[in-house]
Amino acid sequence: MRVAFTAVPDSHLPPVDELLSTAVKALGGSERQGQITMVKAVQQAIDDEEHLAVQAGTGTGKSLAYLVPSIRHAMESDSPVVVSTATIALQRQLVDRDLPRLAESLVKELPHEPTFAILKGRRNYLCRYKATAGWPEEDEQDQLFDPREVSATGRMVQRIQDWAEETETGDRDELVPGVNEQAWRQFSVSAQECLGAQRCPSGAECFAELARARAGEADVVVTNHALLAIDAMGEIPVLPEHDVVVVDEAHELVDRVTSVVTSELSEASVSLAVRRVGRLIDQPTADQLMEAGEDLKALLAAAPAGRIDELPEVLGLTLALVRDSAQRCVTAMGPRGGDKDDPDKAGQRKAAFTALDEVHDTAVRMLEAYGHATEADRAEVVWLDEGNDRRPPVLRVAPLNVGGMLRDRLFGERTVVLTSATLALGGTFDGMARQWGLGDKGWQGIDVGSPFDHPRSGILYVAKHLPQPGRDGLPQAYLDEITELIEAAGGRTLGLFSSMRAAKAATEALRDRLDVPLLCQGDDSTMLLVKQFSEDEPTCLFGTLSLWQGVDVPGPSLRLVIIDRVPFPRPDDPLTSARQRHVAAKGGNGFMTVAATHAALLLAQGTGRLLRSQDDRGVIAVLDPRLATARYSGFLLGSLPPFWRTTDPEVPRAALRRLAG
Ligand code: SF4
Repeated sequence: MRVAFTAVPDSHLPPVDELLSTAVKALGGSERQGQITMVKAVQQAIDDEEHLAVQAGTGTGKSLAYLVPSIRHAMESDSPVVVSTATIALQRQLVDRDLPRLAESLVKELPHEPTFAILKGRRNYLCRYKATAGWPEEDEQDQLFDPREVSATGRMVQRIQDWAEETETGDRDELVPGVNEQAWRQFSVSAQECLGAQRCPSGAECFAELARARAGEADVVVTNHALLAIDAMGEIPVLPEHDVVVVDEAHELVDRVTSVVTSELSEASVSLAVRRVGRLIDQPTADQLMEAGEDLKALLAAAPAGRIDELPEVLGLTLALVRDSAQRCVTAMGPRGGDKDDPDKAGQRKAAFTALDEVHDTAVRMLEAYGHATEADRAEVVWLDEGNDRRPPVLRVAPLNVGGMLRDRLFGERTVVLTSATLALGGTFDGMARQWGLGDKGWQGIDVGSPFDHPRSGILYVAKHLPQPGRDGLPQAYLDEITELIEAAGGRTLGLFSSMRAAKAATEALRDRLDVPLLCQGDDSTMLLVKQFSEDEPTCLFGTLSLWQGVDVPGPSLRLVIIDRVPFPRPDDPLTSARQRHVAAKGGNGFMTVAATHAALLLAQGTGRLLRSQDDRGVIAVLDPRLATARYSGFLLGSLPPFWRTTDPEVPRAALRRLAG
């Protein structure tokens, strides 16, 4: 509901720089040049209906710089602006902190108080119907291998039931601590499984529907990249109608979109379809699908994990069998959309159709992935993820490129502003623009810099004298180097490793050698470990991927960031290796386009952990000498902020000793 406060007519809204200035003053901040440049560029992009990529370093205040023009546009056009994030942390920051404060600060300048809402995918909300009177989730727990997990899941189910009585939003992210997929699935439905608010007995009080209604009324709708992709790619819109999107954490967009359009097939997904179709069709037809699932299970258990470049005959036959058996079940189910007067039955039938369609369509997609003679013509890659004692092996299929989809469905329909601290790789936006499917025209890229004085505040030290990292764990020389650096810094170190194995090996080897506390990711929840690390200055924290992007620790607890190796994707990673080969097959440079771009992005994110406030000082130590010596090192270094660089081991140690005082 919009509340009118003043008589400022929509057509006479103050310019964005004035609105920004009002907001900054009200929030007690100071004007920053990068923020002013960004706010004007975003407004210009909206006015010109031209896409914009903005690289804005930490400390720019970029959320304000896009929220102010977004709110202004929403009021002027009377349609919401969608803001999409990759992480829950940023979503929470926008909804709990930035937007309420901004709305309050601008209330007198605008025709009404700016409103905002958060919207996630249907699976993220408790389904009231399923939770109370709905259909049971056919013995999901039988699918778990480990009896300890069965009882843990049982406890989670109980916890969800208790929470369901009191929650006001039904939002899964508000259930703390979280619950596993098996437990949550028993209380949630996908968009395909939902009965539809009109037919559902709980439709009037449905959490997902209420969230959508709130979003439809808001000036700013905060969502995530996955829902943005579903909205853009799907047949039915899930977000309110909008003509401007802001994609924050835009460096994550391609990965998140790829996840949304990746499908999987396993014996578990086939048997879920069999259980759901259960008594709804004749037994022999359901048995045929079950047998096809068992054939698939035997085949996947014996097959080697990894990319499947050529379709083995036996796999082709099994996929065809799965496809045809699922189709026969669909036919046996009869027409869709029956049982209008019996919601229970309708729910069961929808759930069965959804599972059957998933199995059928994925088998078709996997077979079609091999429908082209040459690698350059292929659009998708299929691979087998090996199982473990917690889950069976799974076949997956994903597109080699999501740029075409993004270009047609996201960028083609609306004005998009993409922003992140890391977008200009090797000093240019071209790499990211290519991944997003943007050509040479119709978009602008600007780097509004950073308020930090990188050359004065940070040293980038590359240990050129060390050997190249090998496959057999961390060389002794690396451990010695880490020890000396941490001793010079008096702890205060974030160790970013390229694998969990390396992080654990370093922790094990160094715990006895160092006289400062050393935490390793996995010892406890990452959130708690980061808290411990930030609250106790000498403590060090070692870990892998999520720490590269998710640690925000300003102040003296973080003076040294150690990076063990240039973070190239693993050579056996099926998706990135297939993408690399695909680029090469089309005549491009697969290594630079895929592997080096991936490494540059992560390296920029990792080095970005050091300076989080104006007063921060410290050292980034990259142990991998290839950052100084390899032919691609210029591209990688060109993707990093302008730290003062050295390869002399004594320089960072002396600086760290001075800082430790
Ligand atoms: S409308 Fe859909 S999501 Fe909402 S309660 Fe009904 S079945 Fe569940």
